[in-house]
Amino acid sequence: MMVLLDGKKASAAVKEALQVQTQALTAAGKRAPHLAAILVGNNGASETYVASKVKNCEEVGFRSTLIRLESDVAESVLLEAIEKLNQDPEVDGILVQLPIPKHISEQKVIEAIHPAKDVDGFHPSSVGKLVQGLPTFIPATPYGIMLMLEHFDIETRGKHAVVIGRSNIVGRPMSILLSSNQKRGNCTVTICHSHTPNLKEICLQGDIIVAALGRPEFVKADMVKVGAVVIDVGITRVDDATAKKGFRIKGDVAFSEVAPKTSAITPVPGGVGLMTIAGLLKNTLQAYLQNQP
Ligand code: NAD
Repeated sequence: MMVLLDGKKASAAVKEALQVQTQALTAAGKRAPHLAAILVGNNGASETYVASKVKNCEEVGFRSTLIRLESDVAESVLLEAIEKLNQDPEVDGILVQLPIPKHISEQKVIEAIHPAKDVDGFHPSSVGKLVQGLPTFIPATPYGIMLMLEHFDIETRGKHAVVIGRSNIVGRPMSILLSSNQKRGNCTVTICHSHTPNLKEICLQGDIIVAALGRPEFVKADMVKVGAVVIDVGITRVDDATAKKGFRIKGDVAFSEVAPKTSAITPVPGGVGLMTIAGLLKNTLQAYLQNQP
């Protein structure tokens, strides 16, 4: 029997708990946790992600602020906006929606966010702590996947996890979490990337496959062993004139052919994307609690 790892259900559970905690805080006369997001330019996917983050903040009772900057904004202006948020005692979490325009250094932006407010977990200080197994902000997507595994009680100990993709926002931190010595860790992890020659053979050994490469329907049924758990991180807009918006969202897994072979699989949409937001909200509450005087 295949289990659908439904991100709606799992994220609703996380959000409900956050809402209860937030209500308790405000009932006690405290201010609500506050997330500030900066959006540079008007990339369609980024607009959608940021709007969804803001909406989800409202749903759990958080405050949110969206700062919009033009796509040709000077790097110094963006860095100043971040610094202002760093200094603001009423802002708990800061995120800059990536990608940002090429004329701005992504690394400078990531390092400008104060580690205490780094709810995306991309600052080198946060990443270093993650690698050492210390408490920190875990990047939202891998965090969301761990919450998903927890929600559906997926065993990871002793399993072989194959992670496809080594980006700093998904693949790399995912591989670290799955190999860490914690409850949903303790996997043997193989991390694959664009220079991996025998990807199919490696995937066939995976008890757990995390596909995070950004190539629609890349993982086919003949790459997946029977009973594997498949986590599809991919979100790609594929042009489709028959769709209302002119595109459809595709995951990195050929769902209809792969799903029957698996013991559990995430859908796209309705899977990891929703858990990513749950992870971000949890990080925001954590920042709030840690930053209270
Ligand atoms: P990225 O482009 O930064 O990284 C892709 C990685 O995949 C690279 O490490 C590359 O080496 C590897 N790769 C590319 N082609 C490959 C191939 N043929 N074989 C093996 N490895 C290959 O992408 P990213 O930011 O990590 O995002 C990956 C996907 O996940 C994208 O579709 C993105 O939109 C999606 N995403 C989803 C969420 C979510 O909330 N669900 C969050 C972040 C990213």
